[in-house]
Amino acid sequence: MKDINELYGELGISRELLEYSEKVLSGLEDRFSRIDETAEYNQLRVMKAFRENRVSEACLLGTTGYGYNDLGRDTLERVYADLFGTEDALVRPQITCGTHALAVALMGNLRPGDELLSPVGKPYDTLEEVIGIRESRGSLKEYGITYRQVDLKEDGSFDYEGIREALNDRTKLVTVQRSKGYQTRPSFSVTQINELIEIIRGIKPEAMIMVDNCYGEFTEREEPKADILVGSLIKNPGGGLVPSGGYIAGKCECVENAAARLTSPGLLKEVGASLGQLSGMYQGLFLSPVVTASALKGAIFAAALYEGAGFEVYPGADTERHDIIQAVTFHDPEGVIGFCEGIQEASPVDSFVRPEPWDMPGYDSKVIMAAGTFVSGSSIELSADGPIKEPYTVYFQGGLTWPHAKYGILRSFRRLMEKGIAKVPV
Ligand SMILES: *Cc1c(COP(=O)(O)O)cnc(C)c1O
Repeated sequence: MKDINELYGELGISRELLEYSEKVLSGLEDRFSRIDETAEYNQLRVMKAFRENRVSEACLLGTTGYGYNDLGRDTLERVYADLFGTEDALVRPQITCGTHALAVALMGNLRPGDELLSPVGKPYDTLEEVIGIRESRGSLKEYGITYRQVDLKEDGSFDYEGIREALNDRTKLVTVQRSKGYQTRPSFSVTQINELIEIIRGIKPEAMIMVDNCYGEFTEREEPKADILVGSLIKNPGGGLVPSGGYIAGKCECVENAAARLTSPGLLKEVGASLGQLSGMYQGLFLSPVVTASALKGAIFAAALYEGAGFEVYPGADTERHDIIQAVTFHDPEGVIGFCEGIQEASPVDSFVRPEPWDMPGYDSKVIMAAGTFVSGSSIELSADGPIKEPYTVYFQGGLTWPHAKYGILRSFRRLMEKGIAKVPV
């Protein structure tokens, strides 16, 4: 039998890089064991929700056509509501992506004349067009819904004074993005978000509070206590098995408002066939705590490996995690490109393909993406992407298994060594 270093060698990882990697990993043991404990905790929470809602074999089958009385869909929505600590949930393959889920939640819950507030600075890029920050067909702005934003303070904390001033008679909905997305700012812990929510409720109890929960699910032992939680099923809660979909969990009223928009007024949650997707949606949710843990380990390993080699990483290797995204800044477009090329080389699908920057819909600069994934564009699978603009930061996330995440990160480093951008530190 070959030893593992030989096998790594055949997969392009040199002895020198492996030795460096081992040194980095020996400093991460405590972090990794805490991540495993969180996964165990969340696995039990998932099991409890499955048991209490009596998930059965019949739930895995689903419906076609209108999808009336879809036992599996309705039970899955109960499971999500219990897990996320909400009254109700909408979990559907008809929700095309995270942006769509967020747009449905916003458009369903806002009316002309209302104002939307983001107290955590600029939202995710694709939401700029949903809101109308960038002019766009069908935006909230076109429907007479205004938007206000309070930026974070210099140190990344909430500007409570600014938030107090921004909340007004027309503020109907407050949106809080948990993860940094394509930005270099802290991702917020559930504790921080809950504090912010309490303060906003104290000032304006009738405002609905929504959390863009993308990438945050199962990274901690609880989810934020918001009126609406929104996310994508090709990220954490899909566990890598869901081919398409999103969720909107929250208060009954908020979820019904969203359902009126997703399906139709009057039809609400009663229609929407599950189209044979239920089995993967259940199984993916079941696996999600452990898959998310693999992705978290990958993020921390990448941070430590690149930080140790002199690169700017965000968050830093020692920082507590609240999402699965790791940013590495190169100040050089070739760094972003090389990193993504390496991740692509380590992908189970299309490992022989070279990714290139392209004009992705919804983004205002070219973006390069490495995504040799089973589900197209899935970012709970090993993937990396970065806008080709200053400061040339790549965002890395995912890894269905920790060994794969590790290999991908090493392969990215190897590619940057080939390009003369990275060196193993002495
Ligand atoms: C991924 C993401 C979105 C949008 O999701 P898509 O599925 O790419 O449309 C929104 N917000 C955050 C924070 C995200 O990470």
